[in-house]
This record gives sequence, structure tokens and C-alpha cells, in this order.
Amino acid sequence: MESSFCKNFNKYSIRPSSLDPMFASIRSLPGIGQKVYRLFAKLLNVKRAESEICLVDFLHFLPHSVINRSNCSGIAYAAKGKNVILKLIIDRHHPPSCFGKRNMPYRVLAHDNTGNIMLVFFHAQHKWLLNQLPVGEKIVISGRVEWFNNHAFMVHPDHIISLADSKFLTPVEPVYPLTAGLSSKTVSKAMIQALNRIPSFKEWQDEALLRREQFPTYREALTAIHMPDTPLVISATSPARRRLAYDELLANQLALALVRCKRKHLLGRRMPLLGTYLETLYKALPFRLTQSQEQAFAEISQDLAAPQRMLRLLQGDVGSGKTIVALLAMAQVAESGVQSALMAPTEVLAQQHYANIAFLAEKVGLKITLLTGREKGRERASMLKKLSSNNIHIVIGTHALIQEEVDFHDLAFVIIDEQHRFGVHQRLQLMAKGDMPNMLVMTATPIPRTLTLTAFGDMDISKLLQKPIGRKPIKTAIISTNRMAELLQRMKDALERGEKFYWICPVIEESKNINLISTIGRFEILAQKFGNLVGLVHGKMSIKQKDAAMTNFKLGKIRLLVATTIVEVGVDIPDASIIIIEHAERFGLAQLHQLRGRVGRNDRYSSCTLLYKEPLSSVARARLNIMRNTEDGFRIAEEDLHLRGEGDLFGTKQSGMPGFRFVDMEAHKDLLEIAQKDARSVLERDNNLESPRGKALRVLLYLFRRDNAIRLLRSG
Ligand code: ADP
Ligand code: MG
Repeated sequence: MESSFCKNFNKYSIRPSSLDPMFASIRSLPGIGQKVYRLFAKLLNVKRAESEICLVDFLHFLPHSVINRSNCSGIAYAAKGKNVILKLIIDRHHPPSCFGKRNMPYRVLAHDNTGNIMLVFFHAQHKWLLNQLPVGEKIVISGRVEWFNNHAFMVHPDHIISLADSKFLTPVEPVYPLTAGLSSKTVSKAMIQALNRIPSFKEWQDEALLRREQFPTYREALTAIHMPDTPLVISATSPARRRLAYDELLANQLALALVRCKRKHLLGRRMPLLGTYLETLYKALPFRLTQSQEQAFAEISQDLAAPQRMLRLLQGDVGSGKTIVALLAMAQVAESGVQSALMAPTEVLAQQHYANIAFLAEKVGLKITLLTGREKGRERASMLKKLSSNNIHIVIGTHALIQEEVDFHDLAFVIIDEQHRFGVHQRLQLMAKGDMPNMLVMTATPIPRTLTLTAFGDMDISKLLQKPIGRKPIKTAIISTNRMAELLQRMKDALERGEKFYWICPVIEESKNINLISTIGRFEILAQKFGNLVGLVHGKMSIKQKDAAMTNFKLGKIRLLVATTIVEVGVDIPDASIIIIEHAERFGLAQLHQLRGRVGRNDRYSSCTLLYKEPLSSVARARLNIMRNTEDGFRIAEEDLHLRGEGDLFGTKQSGMPGFRFVDMEAHKDLLEIAQKDARSVLERDNNLESPRGKALRVLLYLFRRDNAIRLLRSG
């Protein structure tokens, strides 16, 4: 058994030798010693402990812009301020006459057959310059020409090159992000060497597509980008960029499709809907399910009953009622006598889920418990014992669930709430506590379609598109802090009417560096005006203090809660009807949307005020306007993406979104659709990538570092 497994493993997961040159260390390039290597690591943002930088990593590193040197047939024709290449003969050196004065320039006179030019250097080393610009020699330089009183000057040429080396100086020069100590010239030189080492791969893309899109080969595309002959090459729409973007997208889609195929073959456990708990649970619900909720539960229920393992994403805007769907699913699982765990990212959320569903669960005989970091001593020991002896059907908790001493009797269903807060490994850690558990991931983050495809393509997706009936739209206003007095007056009236408010600020404490009102500062101001109706909650408070504030707000002892974004995710206090977000211009739209979702959770009218500090840039205004114009989280996400380009949608890099080198989501949307279809159709015909194209596609997976997926291929 073992040996045959190893054989297959070797056969399918060893890198084809045609790729060896691409995975050689960049240390094998001339001129890259220890010191320069370290600079390259910094440039490519590779930490020392991570793997060695290979040629392919380097080649996939895009220049961020180009210098376009106009063709110029001599000094006399060089326009003011233009970047040019000149062939010069060096005439004379003029070191600064007085060495005591540091700021005197070093000057070098040179000419060509159209005129004279003066090269100017500050803080220059005499010896170095004599060496670079020997008198009487022909030298090629590039840089910006300035004219003064009919005399041409060039201050600090970009390049000084011997005639023999001048082939490295192209009219269009790629510019890479700068790292101190590493010149663009060093990068370019190494890049040209690297380009020369790209083997000619068998084409992995479809012939018809190549022709239709006029794509160059992989090698031609990289060469075009690193040795551009026109500045247009590096723009997102050039055939070279599109080719590489398509390669990258296809690698991504193929990897996801492989994971998906593999999972479809993974055995799960059947947990059919029997009705034992569900029948009574349906009757006990205090409301009617929305059609979306019915539909989502039907999909989940079917997955649970099927023999394959479930991996499903439940996407639903804030307030769409995901928790109840989760409870229904967990009840179905309990009917088979096995256990479910729901993991939430914060204690507040775990508690809230528990508070919302424990009452319903217990009513129908389900045993449910809460496990966070706070239960201690005997209470905790007894709870853990119940878990391991099958006296609990449902456990709701935080990260505490993945601690080592937590041991389930038979964990068969795992739900992760607010997915983007957890890393993939935490997801896997919880999975590992069970035996082939089914998994449901819930997220309220509206993820644009393009990102869903690239990041969650391995999951099946259910969506809650409707909100519970009776919800009124939230009225959103955008106002300047200059109108604070007016706002406070309106708040006073609202408090007298008995309304409950949130007031959100971006930072906890004031600081010298940023000129923002803090949560604490705002709390003090409002407490002076409205007394003990005002409460405060932020991340630096103790758990006890936070709880007390939230409870008092829930009970109505506090009616104006000043808070940080701590309330952003999932906090559910249905009778809070007004939210004021200060420095709204500072927040991401996804975040504003989440925050706004804290109100409008019942059938009363509610409002959201986006307070900004002047001056407001036009982009900032456009973004706030999106918030005013729609409550549709998906539209907000799409428009935000559109406004700031790909950006960092979640404000964190840990979102599990794949990092792309060549893909620009906005510009390459069309390619994404094609790539998804292409990947699926390839695997339908050739599910182990063994056909000629399949084999070529394996190479693609390696080149774009998606080769983990290759491990999933089975022998025929
Ligand atoms: P989210 O999707 O943001 O996690 P929740 O599950 O917290 O939403 O639900 C928001 C609120 O709506 C809760 O108070 C919940 O009890 C309520 N709710 C859920 N489903 C319905 C429904 N079908 N009808 C009325 N209220 C509902
Ligand atoms: Mg929720």
C-alpha cells in the first residue's frame, strides 16, 4: 500500500525537469553575490527564512513604469526636460575648485558633432568620475537635458555606459520599485540574463484563444515586458500583459477546479434530514423564514445528506439571518447523533450567537453550550467532559474551540462564521478535530463576483439575497463636521424620543501624529452633554468592562454607545436605530457597510450619518455617495473595487485572497470568465492532466506557484 502510494506521489508531484532553469536560484545569475541577493530579497519582499528566490519569481516581478527616452540624434536636438540617450566624447573634468565647500558641483565637459554639454555632479568622488568618464573616450549616457542661456546641462545622468555595454540601454527602460543600494541598471542587467534562460515551453494555452487574442508566447510576453520597445507594453491592456494575466488566471482557476474535483471524491458522512428535531424547531421559530433562507437551508440539507463531503460558503449581507440557517443545519446533524461546532471570530459574537439560538435549541431538546476563553476551573472541565462524552449536540465558541484539550465525541459538522477573520490553517485545525466533517463557511462580507471566483472557486455557494420582511430602508446622510451643533441638537431630540444610537470613531486614543477625534475624546464630549446615557466600548477595555457596556446598551441603560469598529462584525442589537460614523472618509466601504448594518435590524425606521471632515477629495466624496445611494452590499463592493482598482478590499492581507502579479481585476474581468470555463472543460476531458495539453498545463501550475494542486492528481 505504502509503496504504491509513494510511487504515485513521486510520479505526479515531482517537478518536470524542463522547469529546472526557472527554479534555479537567482544567485546563479552573474553579478548576484550575497550582498546583492539580499537587496533583491528586499526588492521582491521575500523574508530570509522563506524559500530561495528563483528565476521565475524574479521574472514575474513587474516593472511599475517605464522611462521613455525620445530618439535624439544629438545634443542640439535634445528638448528641454526630455530624457535622452547621447553618445559623447569627454573633453575636460572640472572638480570643485574649493574642496572646503561641499555643495560645489563637479563638472565634466563633453561634446558630440552637434554641440557641447556640461554634466553636473554633486558630492561626487573624483576618482570614480575619472574612471567612468575618461577624457577623450566615447561614452553613452542617458538622462534629462536642461537648457540655460543656450547651454545644455545634464545633472546626474541616469546611466553612464561604455560603448560596448550600450546595448543594455534601450530607448524605453523599465523602472522597478527602488530599494536603497540597488540600481535599476543592476536589476535590468540581471533580468536580461534571466530572460535568456527561459526554456521554450510547450504551449499550454488553447490555439484558438491565442489566435483570437493575438497572444505572444509566455517567453515573448515576459521579454516584451522587461525589455519594452514601447511604454504601452506594461499597461494592463497590452497583449503581453493580457497573455500573462490569462496564464495567471488559468493557473488559479485550474488549481481551484482541481481542489473542487478532488473534494467531490472525498468521502463525507451522510446525515439525512430525519425530522426528529427539525419538525419541532420549525414550529418554535418566532418568525417565518425568508425564501432565501429556505433555499439556502435546502441546499445545505442536501449536502449534509449526500455521501460527498460538503464545503459550502453561505454568503449573506448583514442582517440577512444567517445564524438561524446555521441552527437548522446543526439540528439536522444532531438527528444523526453527532456533533456540530460553530466558531466565531470574537467573544462578543460567539456569545451573541449563543444568546440568539440557545433558547430555541433548548426548547426542542438540543443540548447546546458556549466555549470561549473565559470559562475556567470546574465549570470548564465539566463542559469539556460533556463534549467528549457526547452530552452536547452543538458547541458555539471562539478560537478556544481549537485548543488542544478540546476533544469531541464525534464532530461531524463545522461552521465558521465571518470567514475572512480566520486564516485557512485555523479552519483546518477545527476540521482536524472531527472525522471527515462537513464544513459551512458563513460570511457577511459582500464579495464581488470576480473575487468569489478567484478565492472561493473551490466551494459551492449559497446566497441569502433577501432580508427578513418588514425591514425599512436605512436613511443615509453625508454631513460635514462643521454642522456638529445641528447634529447634536437632533440627537438630543432623538434621545428624548427614546432612540438608541451608535457613535463610531476610527481610533481609540488621540495621538500627535494623526489629527483624528478619538473614541475616548468623543465619549468625553458627549458624556458632558448627555450624562450617563452615554457609554463607551473599545478594544483596550477588559472583557468585563466590554460586557457591561454591551449589556447596558442592550438593556437601554445606555442609549448612546461610543465605540470603535469593535461593533463592526455581527453585533445584533435590534432596537438600535441610529448610527453616526465619524471620519467616515477614513473607512473602507466594506467596513462602512458592515457598520451601517448594525442598524435597521427591526421594522422601525433607522438612519446612518456619515460625518466627514473637510476638505473631502472627489474620490472620497464619490465613495460616500455610493453608500448613500445603495444598501446592496454586493453593489457597494463592486463599485468600490471599480473606484480604487483592485485595492485591498478587506483592509488586510490575511483575507485568503490570492495575490496576483499580472492580473488587474478591473481590466481583466473578461479573461477571468474565459479562464474559469477553460479550466473546468480541461478537467472534464482530462481529469488528471495527462493529455499533451494537460502536461503543458502542469508546467503552468508550477510557474505560477499553484503546484500544491498537482499533489491532488491521482494516478489513472
Ligand atoms: P446576519 O446574517 O447578519 O448574521 P443574523 O443571523 O444575526 O444576521 O440575523 C439578524 C436578525 O434578524 C436577528 O435578530 C434574527 O433573529 C433576525 N431574523 C433572522 N431571520 C429572520 C426572519 N426570517 N424574519 C425575521 N427576523 C429574522
Ligand atoms: Mg452574523
